[in-house]
Amino acid sequence: MPDSTNAFIDLRSDTVTKPTAAMRAAMAQAQVGDDVYGEDPTVNRLEALAARMLGMEAALFVPSGTMANLVSVLTHCGRGDEMILGGDAHIFYYELGGSAALGGVHHYAVPNQPDGTLELAAIESAIRGDDDHFPITRLIALENTHNRCGGRVLPVEYMDAVGDLAHERGLRLHVDGARIWNAAAALGVTPARLLQNADSVTACLSKGLAAPVGSVVAGKQDFIRRARRMRKVVGGGMRQAGVIAAAGIVSLTEMVDRLVDDHANARRLAQGLAALDGIEVDLDGVETNLVYFNLVRPDLSAAQLAAALADQGVLLSPIDSQRLRAVTHYQISADDIERTLAAFARVLD
Ligand SMILES: *Cc1c(COP(=O)(O)O)cnc(C)c1O
Repeated sequence: MPDSTNAFIDLRSDTVTKPTAAMRAAMAQAQVGDDVYGEDPTVNRLEALAARMLGMEAALFVPSGTMANLVSVLTHCGRGDEMILGGDAHIFYYELGGSAALGGVHHYAVPNQPDGTLELAAIESAIRGDDDHFPITRLIALENTHNRCGGRVLPVEYMDAVGDLAHERGLRLHVDGARIWNAAAALGVTPARLLQNADSVTACLSKGLAAPVGSVVAGKQDFIRRARRMRKVVGGGMRQAGVIAAAGIVSLTEMVDRLVDDHANARRLAQGLAALDGIEVDLDGVETNLVYFNLVRPDLSAAQLAAALADQGVLLSPIDSQRLRAVTHYQISADDIERTLAAFARVLD
């Protein structure tokens, strides 16, 4: 099987997950039609399922998380409008400034706290008043789980509070929930509860949920109708997309409940790393499937450590000169974690 041919223990990202056998079977058998005409039954089924699970009225299937966020921001904001987001947000950091480049949306970045939140007071003071000099604030964007903050989970009360603040001030709340199912699993709540006060959400099927391609945007009926037009304008209208949506349906029906295993493996990895000389991990910060850690050895850079581990068959991502990231996912077993820790011990010896 293609799933078992991996020569490496690949901890670079949960995006490296390959489709499961059940996904390949579903893809081969998928009923399809032209989705730009709204006629692909498998895409329609995925969108209805995603909307229901996320507690939203409707959903839209898109090729990537980046496009999901772009389409969401362009639907909420016009040219010159402003969105408030974290300085470590994926939208701000890793999406090429797409909503500014393509949509003329102004970004107002406020500092992320180490737990991934934005202070309510910082959001409040970023909201523009009525002044002829100012852009118009339209949108607040949160990220849950928060990638650059270490896979941290933003709790229900906080999500509710930011939604309340947004709505009191006539703004919308978008949630970059690329890993929203990881957040929900860590909190023991449904994603729908977590998103109760949000106006829109991006959720990735191709990360821990292991689909080969695809993300969804979900929100109110009217928002999704307009988002569908934005998807078309950025070139994301797909035709017989049921062949990939079929895998996404398997993601949502079969791959959600096992995310807690990834979290347990991440915790075990973090504990093992913390016990090694030359590695520092904030154990309390490891809440989901992302393990960020620092190398504190003058003789070794993060890139050199990653290269030495690759020679031992273990792949992970250097983030800067001292910081690295390891991500657990369904192709990483508990045994792989032990083998990874053994490789670390050999390299750092
Ligand atoms: C991965 C990710 C995305 C989207 O990434 P794509 O690679 O475009 O699917 C968006 N937000 C966060 C927080 C992510 O981790």
